[in-house]
Amino acid sequence: MIYIHVPYCRSFCTYCGFYSETESAAHCGKDEFVRAAVLEMRSRRQDLSAVSERETLYIGGGTPSVLPLYALERLTGALAELRDGRGYEEFTMEVNPDDVLEKGSEYLCGLRKAGVDRVSMGVQSLDDGILKWMNRRHDADEARQAYRMLRDAGFENISIDLISGISLLSDTVWRATLDEVVSGMGAGRAPEHVSAYQLSVEPDSALSAMVEDGRYHEAADSRCEEQYGILCDRLHEAGYRHYEISNFSLPGHEALHNSGYWRHIPYIGIGPAAHSLAVTRLPGQEPVFRRTWNTASLADYVKGAAADDFSVCRGGETLTVQQVDMESVMLGLRTDEGVEENFLRETCGDDAVDAALSAGTLLRMEAVSSLQGLQDGGQRLRIPENHFFVSDSIISGLVCP
Ligand code: SF4
Repeated sequence: MIYIHVPYCRSFCTYCGFYSETESAAHCGKDEFVRAAVLEMRSRRQDLSAVSERETLYIGGGTPSVLPLYALERLTGALAELRDGRGYEEFTMEVNPDDVLEKGSEYLCGLRKAGVDRVSMGVQSLDDGILKWMNRRHDADEARQAYRMLRDAGFENISIDLISGISLLSDTVWRATLDEVVSGMGAGRAPEHVSAYQLSVEPDSALSAMVEDGRYHEAADSRCEEQYGILCDRLHEAGYRHYEISNFSLPGHEALHNSGYWRHIPYIGIGPAAHSLAVTRLPGQEPVFRRTWNTASLADYVKGAAADDFSVCRGGETLTVQQVDMESVMLGLRTDEGVEENFLRETCGDDAVDAALSAGTLLRMEAVSSLQGLQDGGQRLRIPENHFFVSDSIISGLVCP
């Protein structure tokens, strides 16, 4: 699993806490970033050339669609060289509607030629007032047009991002957005995948300043829960599988890359602020998990590349077996596949698991063998969908009883 972080945005959205720099104020240009990213790939040749359990590529950010095609091709070309031309089970790129409209169908055909076979587009809402409040660079109609353009360009696997739990978002507007999404946004075909997040106040976002000085009051939990319920019901009716707390897919279109994160499969992150997880397995010894992360500073990242020493811009930690197990529980319980009961009991203790089973916040699953991509193991336990909204407190009750 390979991730590339593109650290540019044209402007910042109100709610966003991801690391990126505005194009106009960025410390380094895109060519410098691409050069540095290619150098980082070459410095990690050994990791990248190894055949991983899941061969997926995800270009995220920031806003990858600000990259011109030649820059994208340099990134994918360098990877192909290091990986002996091997393809990917899934190659996702995030795009923003305004870039799709501005760059047009030639750009989209270029993405397909570069191998992108899945696009994740940040729509967020189909209400102009909400989009304006979010400081998005597109209105609802532009999002619809961009979606149609993606279909016209031949993309068969499209994911749409949405946000709920905003105090200004009425249930009526939220329902109307969902209705339009599942009816295909004028393109006659619904997106294969929907990621719907609840608004959260991220540190250093514009929203956190607005909360602090009273310009924004967070929606009550009960409102957020209501909107989450509307989301689950509407997408169920439309035939989506609710396979992770915030993710829904039409049959067979679960995101392979993100599912890999939830299954704790090692990954390689390239670019500023990108994280990696590596595992070393030696005969007769416990596997050793190591997490590393690149600096969240484009300028320092490019400096590290120029000095041919990425260690100066990379931090890291070795995870204990206990940390890895806890993370596996936390990630697995976010999904409808849950985790193996024996493993959960070993990690969290019988008392916590039995208490959750009696309270109905954990559920035994029947058809383990039908789950995609999982070994046919023992009995599994999951958080039932009607408790997904409070999964954080269920999980913390298990891992820190
Ligand atoms: S939501 Fe996307 S486009 Fe908006 S600031 Fe964050 S990364 Fe940039």
